[in-house]
Amino acid sequence: MKKHVVLYKTLSAPLMQRLQERADVTLIERLDAHGLDQLRAALPQAQGLLGASLKLDAQWLDLAPKLEAIASVSVGIDNYDLDYLTARHILLTNTPDVLTETTADTGFALILASARRVVELAIRVRNGQWQKNIGPEHFGTDVHGKTLGIIGMGRIGEALAQRGHFGFGMPVIYHSHSPKPAVEARFGARYRSLKALLQEADFICLTLPLTAETQGLIGAEQFALMRTDSIFINISRGKVVDEAALIHALQQGQIRGAGLDVFEREPLDPASPLLTLDNVVATPHIGSATIETREAMARCAVDNLLAALDGQRPPNLVNPSAFDQGR
Ligand code: NAP
Repeated sequence: MKKHVVLYKTLSAPLMQRLQERADVTLIERLDAHGLDQLRAALPQAQGLLGASLKLDAQWLDLAPKLEAIASVSVGIDNYDLDYLTARHILLTNTPDVLTETTADTGFALILASARRVVELAIRVRNGQWQKNIGPEHFGTDVHGKTLGIIGMGRIGEALAQRGHFGFGMPVIYHSHSPKPAVEARFGARYRSLKALLQEADFICLTLPLTAETQGLIGAEQFALMRTDSIFINISRGKVVDEAALIHALQQGQIRGAGLDVFEREPLDPASPLLTLDNVVATPHIGSATIETREAMARCAVDNLLAALDGQRPPNLVNPSAFDQGR
């Protein structure tokens, strides 16, 4: 008998067909109020869930007594309570690797856009304000040759280091739980304490996960350590940063600027002071948002889910003990 899957993300036609060949599918197209009602109604039958961008806590999952597996279309797993899932033997999978290069591209886009003031100056052109050659008040700052500081030297951090080292001749410094000899050998990267990295880097890039340990990791004390000509880039998760402290640092000129793809609350409030600052480039959580990569992530999630529902150990299993204990 086919298992019942609740999709809270639209799939391409070929992926939808693949899933429907093996499962009965309920599709929730949008997570608006109506969609959330539909989800509530569908959960009691759900054996598999596939989607992203929804905090699936116990309040939701208690409604799904038959649930066997969740395939998250993301690498970040901060929307899930691992202890809860494992206690219920619910398998959680994610989509690492397939989004690494694209997310690193986004990081570099923010580095270049912030340093060269691309958005601010493009808006001036569009508004008809380009009436004479620009002067020093609109000059940017170089990227090539500057020190790239990466906090969280995992898959995305490494892809960022590769771009900085080979593409832009940047010395790379990094901070992680532990030193990474292979990364040091490939990119000449040097390990730093968090404090030393914040003091030394020209570009400070966050590429670590949101966890209990990293929530609020970068706050007033850390912004005070940064150089006044440094640029802060966040492509990890908004809650790793104390956003009020970031706004204060930008307003007070403690740092030169920021490139931000993620925010404490998403979508970002249009009234956020961040949007009044010329030295902020803000993008709507587009880290992995290309046609090719989103399709690859969805394919990966479908493969993960089908394997899990078949009783196999799925690829990209986040909580292996849920599988081991559930046997
Ligand atoms: P990853 O390979 O697991 O790398 C994360 C790195 O962070 C690891 O190397 C880890 O260091 C380090 N780390 C974790 N906690 C730390 C701490 N407290 N202090 C210092 N370092 C710490 O993950 P990834 O695939 O690169 O993805 C990283 C994150 O990027 C995801 O979790 C997600 O939240 C975010 N992301 C955002 C977007 C977007 O759209 N903006 C897209 C994709 C991913 P060790 O190896 O030393 O333990």
